[in-house]
Amino acid sequence: MADEGATAAPLLHPCPSCGRTDRISGVPAVYVAGRNHVNVLVPRTDDRMEHTETHFVTTALSNALAPAPTTPPGLWTGCLSIPLLVVAIGTFIGGATSGHWFGGYPVPPAGAAVFPDEAHPDYAYLGVISLLALVAAASLILPAVFRWIAFRRLVEAGRPAAERLWSRAWYCGRCGTVHFPPRPGYPAQPLTFGDFRAVVWAAGGYGHLARRHHTL
Ligand SMILES: [Zn+2]
Repeated sequence: MADEGATAAPLLHPCPSCGRTDRISGVPAVYVAGRNHVNVLVPRTDDRMEHTETHFVTTALSNALAPAPTTPPGLWTGCLSIPLLVVAIGTFIGGATSGHWFGGYPVPPAGAAVFPDEAHPDYAYLGVISLLALVAAASLILPAVFRWIAFRRLVEAGRPAAERLWSRAWYCGRCGTVHFPPRPGYPAQPLTFGDFRAVVWAAGGYGHLARRHHTL
């Protein structure tokens, strides 16, 4: 439909930037063509034999023409909770083991003097550190989860409307701009990738996310 060639040329409007039609393709076709699964040969290691893995790859051009964002903004803050969880678990295990929080006190040698404070040192401070780290991790994880749920709902609800507009757009590979077919009173205008996403994503109700989407 959007392929280059003489048969498609009569259906194409000239690019409003360069005035040509020879490098014009439909935005959905360009988007899909830039998303693919590739097989990657992984060399043999000490632990694993040589094998093939399938990776999903996308081009920068495909990402620039995406009809919707794939990840919510600020997702990285949730990732900060991972080291905090490691600290929480590590200090808890260390404190429980060293402080014998759950019993298992060492039996002193026969005849040895027992000094409770020395034989069973108080590692309660590790419990405090563990608890603080756990609270800090939860304060990062929970908002990230709620943001993710709200993001998915927003995109799923608005994507059909955005795709209706998105699927009518054309990409010119000669000058790297996008345009919509002209309408009476609205001549075609060349759009940058950012402006194109802002228009399409706004149609889906998530235009505020377009400004934060960097692909190039
Ligand atoms: Zn052009």
